[in-house]
Amino acid sequence: MPKTTIRDLTDAQLRGKRALVRVDFNVPIEGDRVTDDTRIRAALPTIEALLARGASVVLLSHLGRPKGKPDLEYTLEPVARHLQSLLPNPVSFVETTDSDEALRATLGARPGTVLLLENTRFLGGEEKNEERLARALAELGDVYVNDAFGSAHRAHASTEGVAHYLKPAVAGLLMERELQYLGDTLQAPARPFVAILGGAKISGKIDVIEALLPKVDKLLIGGAMACTFFRAMGLETGKSLVEADRVEMARTLLSRASDKLELPSDALVAPSLDTGAAAKAVARDAIPADQAMFDIGPASAKEFASEISRAKTVLWNGPMGVFEKPPFDRGTRAIALALADATARGATTIVGGGDSAAAVEQLGLASKMSHVSTGGGASLEFLEGKELPGVAALEDRGRA
Ligand code: ADP
Ligand code: MG
Repeated sequence: MPKTTIRDLTDAQLRGKRALVRVDFNVPIEGDRVTDDTRIRAALPTIEALLARGASVVLLSHLGRPKGKPDLEYTLEPVARHLQSLLPNPVSFVETTDSDEALRATLGARPGTVLLLENTRFLGGEEKNEERLARALAELGDVYVNDAFGSAHRAHASTEGVAHYLKPAVAGLLMERELQYLGDTLQAPARPFVAILGGAKISGKIDVIEALLPKVDKLLIGGAMACTFFRAMGLETGKSLVEADRVEMARTLLSRASDKLELPSDALVAPSLDTGAAAKAVARDAIPADQAMFDIGPASAKEFASEISRAKTVLWNGPMGVFEKPPFDRGTRAIALALADATARGATTIVGGGDSAAAVEQLGLASKMSHVSTGGGASLEFLEGKELPGVAALEDRGRA
């Protein structure tokens, strides 16, 4: 069921009102500087739209894992300063969240201004989704907007509880976009629909595989995950990362869906991650016993790219290799380029997963994708077909 969004709010609901917006500003910080502001920039369209319509914007976010009490290592203050550098409107930081100080600050905020309150995880009730806290947070705004897709798989006071006490509770523009691409597009994909899965472990992605198999026309598998399938096929996997307790499952998947599953035909192997200079491409049935597969090989990259070039919808989750360490980034780069080409010729291309999104950013190709999800764990749970509590708590369209 589609959710109401800030577009559905009337001017009367916004002008001179406080929009309480849950964002995902869980960004990397070094010293007192934000080192990657992707998530902050992703929330700007929502913030700007609310400001332009005459609201004041009160922002809630978590940062890191401060265990339910104040810990200045995780203060959002540097984020407030960074946000100010991105916005012409005044941005102030409030050092508390569940307090009279915070409440007064929101009531005194002028239209067109932004307040960022301190880290929600400084509050003991946040992760417990405590009702008292949810009600207190609900006092901080006149409407609730959830734009924190990356936190929507958690039922916390600021992502879920508050939506029960502050109405209307609607999706922000980033949330709306995430739901459109990961939800609507993949529910009724233009075909052929090709998914590419990779990453370290098959165990974290088995539910994604199960959910995708009936929907896709092809499922391409790379990353260390491929090695568990190789083992299931009886191939030598050397020192590669294999999940011994998942081999049986991989075997079952192969027998059930061998027409849809496509595994790499070759591998880039090396004695260790630090001996990249000695890396060589071998056929998948020739992985040396004393070496490990750290990336898909060049033939596989070509074959995968060719599948992608025929697709109308492409979903990618999980790097093809240890992309953090060249030369094992080659397979991942080849797939990213294939997706960029696919976008250019009109296919819908979607990237989900924290490391995959980071890889695409690093390659400078993020803008060449139809959509790069900002939600790591949340995008995976969504792809598994699970209902995200932070989304479920928002009002369905037609009822707000
Ligand atoms: P995402 O965050 O996009 O869902 P994952 O967390 O599942 O992706 O996997 C990313 C990690 O998988 C990366 O750190 C990468 O180094 C690792 N990886 C990919 N291929 C291999 C491989 N062949 N051997 C070991 N690690 C791998
Ligand atoms: Mg990851």
